[in-house]
Amino acid sequence: SMVAAESSLKTDESARIMKEAQDLMPGGVNSPVRAFKSVGGGPVVFDRVKGSKAYDVDGNEYIDYIGSWGPAIVGAANEEVNEALVKQIEKGTSFGAPCELENQLAQDVIDAVPSLEMVRFVNSGTEACLSVIRVMRAFTGRQKFIKFSGCYHGHADMYLVQAGSGVLTLGLPDSPGVPKETTAPTLVAKYNDLDSVKAIFEANKDEIAGVILEPVVGNSGFIPPTMEFLQGLRDLCTAEGALLCFDEVMTGFRISYAGAQGHFGIKPDMSTFGKVIGGGLPVGAYGGRRDIMEMVAPAGPVYQAGTLSGNPLAMTAGLKTLEILRRPGSYEYLDKITSRLAAGMVDAAKDAGHDAVGGSISAMYGMYFTKDPVHNFEQASQSDMKKFAPFHRGMLESGIYLAPSGYEAGFTGLAHTEEDIDKTIEAARKVLSTIPP
Ligand code: PLP
Repeated sequence: SMVAAESSLKTDESARIMKEAQDLMPGGVNSPVRAFKSVGGGPVVFDRVKGSKAYDVDGNEYIDYIGSWGPAIVGAANEEVNEALVKQIEKGTSFGAPCELENQLAQDVIDAVPSLEMVRFVNSGTEACLSVIRVMRAFTGRQKFIKFSGCYHGHADMYLVQAGSGVLTLGLPDSPGVPKETTAPTLVAKYNDLDSVKAIFEANKDEIAGVILEPVVGNSGFIPPTMEFLQGLRDLCTAEGALLCFDEVMTGFRISYAGAQGHFGIKPDMSTFGKVIGGGLPVGAYGGRRDIMEMVAPAGPVYQAGTLSGNPLAMTAGLKTLEILRRPGSYEYLDKITSRLAAGMVDAAKDAGHDAVGGSISAMYGMYFTKDPVHNFEQASQSDMKKFAPFHRGMLESGIYLAPSGYEAGFTGLAHTEEDIDKTIEAARKVLSTIPP
């Protein structure tokens, strides 16, 4: 593209590696958004990460606002986490047998999140979400459930209906290969619109097992819930004998140490986690009320298992990450730098003549090129994505690594400095002034 031709960024090695990768893996990647399809231009290939920085194979340095899509909240390649991991490696990476580290991480997660009485560890957010819906269906004896347009709950069949994230970015509302029978019980409501949920409950009396949502949406940009919406969902589920599930894979230990549910003071029946609780290793978790979790095998009849689940290496990374986050001032600092970043980006956009809205809660932020505030996916999709692509590329060339899609939230971490934020806002000012309003 023209932008790439003017680029000051050295990308020879990245281009060579991606060219080879195309032949080896679909699209050259192991997860779609990494391919930069929606912003154009080739992706940069990472060599290493440290703190708030990422370094690519051509020697370029970036301030990283993806942080491995969430896990790197205490800083990438954190020394304390690494030290704990090295010690654990000597004792073995996977047992396939009980180990006490599982108790310790389970206790930490249960202590952190008031609605959790029991948890089960799995290996990804996808696994957590597909397992939790099985348990919710078994507990209620009902098949249907409600999700929201623009919310992503991993790539299990039943969730690939109006999902956000890569599904949204690639414009695949449904994926081929997903049987219609599997998604037929998936009913889709509109985020922040309680009436849309009520209507579904009324039309499906005593058939709805539960409602699952991102308590702050990060998979179609950044969309906070209204208190009225969350409280309404809580009351509605209780009244209808349905279960409320917060998918906190992204928001858990990020919006606050007690997740989005702690921040908003709403108690779901069930929750899912991932990303931060694995501290950069593959971990997911689901949990909630004891009477519901007791249904899971071998305590109960609902089958769910995993060869590497609760492995000591992953538990160690999670434990150390949570320990660091518990230190005084962590979330105050994250909130301070992130709100300054979000406000700075929006101001920069407006000063350059663009319509822009944005916001943040703790270490999660977003910005849209649109005039009106965004309360749901339908409004998010009004954002001018034609502006996002040159913005993304310009920032990359300025040494700022942003999510390669206007439909993804941005993440900060404890390693981001005030200086990083200043540099980022300054870069945004320059780049946004080169984009025609
Ligand atoms: N749920 C939410 C809210 C997510 O953001 C994600 C991942 O981005 C998932 C579930 C799926 O998690 P994973 O990618 O670990 O399978």
